[in-house]
Amino acid sequence: MIRPILKYGDSTLHERAAPVEQITTDVDRLLGDMIETMYAAPGVGLAAPQVGVPLRIFVVDVSVGRDPNGLIVMINPEFVVRDGMQLEEEGCLSVPGFNATVVRPSHVVVKGLDRDGEPHQREGTGLLARAFQHEMDHLDGMLFVEHLRGVKRDMIVRKIKKLTRAGKW
Ligand SMILES: [Zn+2]
Repeated sequence: MIRPILKYGDSTLHERAAPVEQITTDVDRLLGDMIETMYAAPGVGLAAPQVGVPLRIFVVDVSVGRDPNGLIVMINPEFVVRDGMQLEEEGCLSVPGFNATVVRPSHVVVKGLDRDGEPHQREGTGLLARAFQHEMDHLDGMLFVEHLRGVKRDMIVRKIKKLTRAGKW
C-alpha cells in the first residue's frame, strides 16, 4: 500500500524516532509499504517518519528499482565509518520542489538489521553515501534544509510558510 508522504512542518518529521524493539508483522507491513511508496514517488530513499511512523527504519535504492539487488533495508541503523567530503545537490520527498547543495561525507559504512532481523552492514560512496546520511538524518528528526546556512535556508523556509498559508503545501 502506498502511504502518504508527510511534508516539512509535520511534527513527526522533526522528532527523533525510536528504535524498533521487535520485527512484528506490523513492522514488516510497514517495510513493504515504505518500499512501494519509495518506488512510486519515485525516490532513492524513504525513512519511516516520512510516512508518519516514528521508528528507526529506512529503505534506500539509488538505482530506483533498475538494479534487482539495489534495495537496502536498514532497521536501527548506526554509522560504522564516515569520512571524506562531497558537495552535491540534494532534495527530499518531504520537501518537494526544493533542492540545495549539501555538504556530506563521501564514504560511509552503515550497520543495522535487514527485513528478517539479521544484522548486516553496507558500504556506500557517492550517491549511496549521501542517501544513507540523508535517511539517517530523518531518524534524528533532521531534514536537509537544516544543513543549509543563512539566506538559502531562510528562503526555503519562507517559501514553505507561504505555500502553507495558501493551502498549497
Ligand atoms: Zn528526505
